[in-house]
Amino acid sequence: MPVQIRKAAVIGSGVMGAQIAAVLANAGIQTLLFDLQPKELSEKESKLGLSLDNAAVKNRYALEAITKLKKMKPAPLGTSEQSKLIRACNLTDDFKKLAEVDWIIEAVVENMSVKQDLFERIEKVKKSSCIVSSNTSGLSIEKMVSTCSDGFKKNFLGIHFFNPPRYLKLVEFIPSNSTDTNIVSDMKTFTEKRLGKTVVLAKDSPNFIANRIGTYGLLLTVQEMGKSGLTVSDVDALTGKLIGRPKSATFRTLDVVGLDTFLHVAKTVYDHTEGKEQELFDPPSFMKKLVENGAIGQKAGKGFYQKV
Ligand code: NAD
Repeated sequence: MPVQIRKAAVIGSGVMGAQIAAVLANAGIQTLLFDLQPKELSEKESKLGLSLDNAAVKNRYALEAITKLKKMKPAPLGTSEQSKLIRACNLTDDFKKLAEVDWIIEAVVENMSVKQDLFERIEKVKKSSCIVSSNTSGLSIEKMVSTCSDGFKKNFLGIHFFNPPRYLKLVEFIPSNSTDTNIVSDMKTFTEKRLGKTVVLAKDSPNFIANRIGTYGLLLTVQEMGKSGLTVSDVDALTGKLIGRPKSATFRTLDVVGLDTFLHVAKTVYDHTEGKEQELFDPPSFMKKLVENGAIGQKAGKGFYQKV
């Protein structure tokens, strides 16, 4: 029987997870949006006299992500009815709710062991027919599920959305050697017909296709910038509006992606290359400094630009 996706869960309510949840809700799919449970009260929560047991505190990260979605212009969520399809959850109290869903999309930080730990936990609660995906930018799909059971691996498929998922049509599919080919074809039909995307099949190689090219191009641009003595705004002027890319100039794109995520993505290729090629994938120190100082882009309200 072809796969039926009636209810889904997205784990990680950051830049990608929240907007992937919006794509699913716009397609009429009930979606649980998960994130971690905060360990401390925020200043605002303390002032309101809330405790860590309060549901609004426990679900703070996912709730904040949903509020952000509603405020974005143009809105990634179609109608208010569609926005009601997303429910905020936390990974401590609500983990068992993952047993209710037909598709789980992992969109947490780009870190192999964090993702592996999560999949080991998910395996214990999910229903056997549930499909599990990672939105990784380029980590090995095979390695990610290496400690999971054969049944889990059969239903596991790398599904890589692009940022911003509400506009970008491309979705890379990265099956492992164990992924059931029927799942690949059913999910391809679902992603194209229900979500309106275009699916490209990629090999399980570092950063797959588009990010392998994109990271290379971006870091080469930054290297040339250093050699030519250009500034951030010079580079954005040359790689933006003037060449017909009003929203995707080099450093503006980095702010949208998140500089922390970009450093992780560059490292994936760095770890699989050597010599001169490898040098390129070691981002310049000014980028690393920005990350150290919390200037990780739009999500933090500061990056190369204050406003993107
Ligand atoms: P993000 O930093 O914006 O969000 C990550 C979220 O994961 C945060 O809300 C964080 O609280 C949560 N998280 C962190 N550790 C966790 C854990 N142990 N368990 C559960 N949740 C945890 O990151 P993002 O940009 O949304 O990226 C998510 C994934 O999508 C990464 O694998 C990334 O490589 C990939 N991706 C990112 C982009 C992009 O442009 N940012 C594009 C495509 C794919």
